[in-house]
Amino acid sequence: MSNQQWLSRSLAAVWHPCTQMKRHERFPLVPIASAEGAWLTDFDGKRYLDAISSWWVNLLGHGHPRIKAAITRQLDSLEHVMLAGFTHRPAVELAERLGALTGLGHAFFGSDGASATEIALKMSFHAWKNLGRVEKNRFISLENSYHGETVGALAVTDVPLFSATYAPLVRQGLRVPTPDARGAAPGETAADVAQRAARALEACLDANADSVAALILEPLVQGAAGMAMYHPDYLRAARALCDRYDVHLIADEIAVGFGRSGTLFACEQAGIRPDFLCLSKGITGGFLPLSCVLTRDEIYRSFYSDDIRHAFLHSHSYTGNPLACAAALAVLDTLQDEDIIAVNRERSARFGALLAPLAAHGAVRHFRQQGMIWAFDVDTPRGDFAQAYFAAMLERGCLVRPIGTTVYFMPPYCLKDEEMAMLGDAALDALDALGRDAAGSAPQPALP
Ligand SMILES: *Cc1c(COP(=O)(O)O)cnc(C)c1O
Repeated sequence: MSNQQWLSRSLAAVWHPCTQMKRHERFPLVPIASAEGAWLTDFDGKRYLDAISSWWVNLLGHGHPRIKAAITRQLDSLEHVMLAGFTHRPAVELAERLGALTGLGHAFFGSDGASATEIALKMSFHAWKNLGRVEKNRFISLENSYHGETVGALAVTDVPLFSATYAPLVRQGLRVPTPDARGAAPGETAADVAQRAARALEACLDANADSVAALILEPLVQGAAGMAMYHPDYLRAARALCDRYDVHLIADEIAVGFGRSGTLFACEQAGIRPDFLCLSKGITGGFLPLSCVLTRDEIYRSFYSDDIRHAFLHSHSYTGNPLACAAALAVLDTLQDEDIIAVNRERSARFGALLAPLAAHGAVRHFRQQGMIWAFDVDTPRGDFAQAYFAAMLERGCLVRPIGTTVYFMPPYCLKDEEMAMLGDAALDALDALGRDAAGSAPQPALP
């Protein structure tokens, strides 16, 4: 079957995520037949470089042989068993490995990122409740935060396009200024912005800590806000303030974990340990849905008692799925055996050099990089920039999905120098093409 046939069947049967379906009257869906490495192939044989790792999940490349083999091997013995009252090798081994890598433990598994956020928020509140402090039931999040889109997660997600419609359903938390380095006043450094944001956090805690269970944040990079990057000083300050005011720190490394930020986990760059760590997305290399929340012994112990009401009574049917855990173990093995964090350091330095002409383009503002993430803002009069740029890049054989006027690359770690060079060339060419056709059409909202 051709692209055309699959896309019309899809429009009739599938409700696609994060999409105004009517827009597909003008912008066709792209049906994908197969994928390998950094490349997607459609049903007509056209190839696209997956420059955003299929919404940030595909860590090591599509069809990665080691992950495929691990899932296949696991299929031969056990596809799934419930994790309440039962256990199995992949869940135990993955929990042990993640514990050793993070200095946290007691891995609680979920299925998606948003479910990890829900788990961490509920656990934090419940841990305080178990200590008799029921009044600690609010959460602080950062301006421009994104922690998922279930009703609970929306309370700590500051993307009005996603949350405003559902406001009557959501119990709004407290919001503090973002340390986004782009907010620097003339003469200010990223560290100055971090200090300023930390003072605002201190003021918020000073006024509200008695009713606050936790601060939740995305360490170093606020992804869905448009890859807003900030100085690690903010994380150090946040850790110290949470300690001082008796508030948990939840680090949402769903997007930046597993090497994306340049270290295995972004918190390492600030030398801090959170009270809860949320992981998902790259955890299975983009093969299967899995998420995980890790926490400290002391918090775990507050749930451990003879009273059932002290227990964390939360579950998802596929909690700790063995196939997903086996994929995650293969990802950890690969990161370790191929020393991928170190290899990425050199790779990202070379990629940075390849992207220098793009960074120097007249319409490019705030060109920035953190680990294996590159982003820049485009000075454009076009209200429909994101959609038009997406289409222009697709024509040039690249998948990017700008957020508003921010373009970012978040490629799988297997990306080769010549592929990055091609991506940089296509990005420049598309910028020029859109610049020549500056009129554009009606403004469109920013979607991640
Ligand atoms: C994607 C993301 C989530 C939500 O994950 P889903 O699997 O889409 O529910 C939460 N937090 C951050 C930082 C994310 O990037």
